[in-house]
Amino acid sequence: MTASVLKITDLHAGAGSRQILRGIDLEVRSGEIHAVMGPNGSGKSTLAHVLMGRPGYEVISGSVTLDGVEMLGLEPFERAQAGLFLTFQYPIEVPGVPLQAALTESLIAAGRIVQAEAEPLTARLREEARELGISPDILARPMNVDLSGGEAKRNETLQLAILRPRIAILDELDSGLDVDALGQVARRIERATREGDPPLGVIAITHYRRLLVELPAQYVHVLSEGRIVASGGPELAEELERTGYAAYREDAGAPGQARAGYAGPGELGLGETFPGGLIRG
Ligand code: ADP
Ligand code: MG
Repeated sequence: MTASVLKITDLHAGAGSRQILRGIDLEVRSGEIHAVMGPNGSGKSTLAHVLMGRPGYEVISGSVTLDGVEMLGLEPFERAQAGLFLTFQYPIEVPGVPLQAALTESLIAAGRIVQAEAEPLTARLREEARELGISPDILARPMNVDLSGGEAKRNETLQLAILRPRIAILDELDSGLDVDALGQVARRIERATREGDPPLGVIAITHYRRLLVELPAQYVHVLSEGRIVASGGPELAEELERTGYAAYREDAGAPGQARAGYAGPGELGLGETFPGGLIRG
């Protein structure tokens, strides 16, 4: 088994002439679950988008490697082929393309199955759908079209289960889910972090510790104003649930002990524009 590692080094990035990420360092290995928590607008979704190469975001400096291969500069589909997977907060509808066809073609394109194996895949898809509590009818429907909030997230998880990426970035997978759906998607992803060759590594962006009950993160990071200002174990998520993010905001008063290494307000002024020579993400 070859373990994978996603290594984010001193990542600075922004959008629309505004800097959002201000030096992110994070390393995620196969089988590890990292939670990224933080106030609204702290840059969590931006981090997810920049990792996946969404157009409209610019990388200013830094590096993101998956198993030693630089991801920045690759197209999103190339990053997906390398093993990165992003679950969307709002999956884009793809009318005219049934989910099953999209997944089958993805696996064929990746050289993971040949056309002759497409039939057995149907059985696996139906089994995964059943486990996630969605009707197998969804497999014949156009991808992501007219899904309820719960179906959308279960559908994302189904895609993850079939495509078996190396590293998954979950952007608020728990938002809009009822407790049953939350349990089903979290348990399925947790299982992926124990099975597979290599098992899945996860970056779970979430506001709520309840996701982490069934998807237990060994590492919890607080993102504030585009920086990881605290890292710890599961106890950090519990502390955040009790006390909120007040201690981690840039305008907070006395720094808490968890803020060691945090440079403090004003080190990088808000609203600054990019230096020249942008690297396109
Ligand atoms: P979070 O996911 O932590 O709530 P985001 O990463 O979505 O935060 O956003 C961080 C900040 O960057 C917000 O102030 C947001 O308005 C801004 N932002 C995000 N995407 C863009 C964009 N494409 N263009 C301009 N500003 C953006
Ligand atoms: Mg967000």
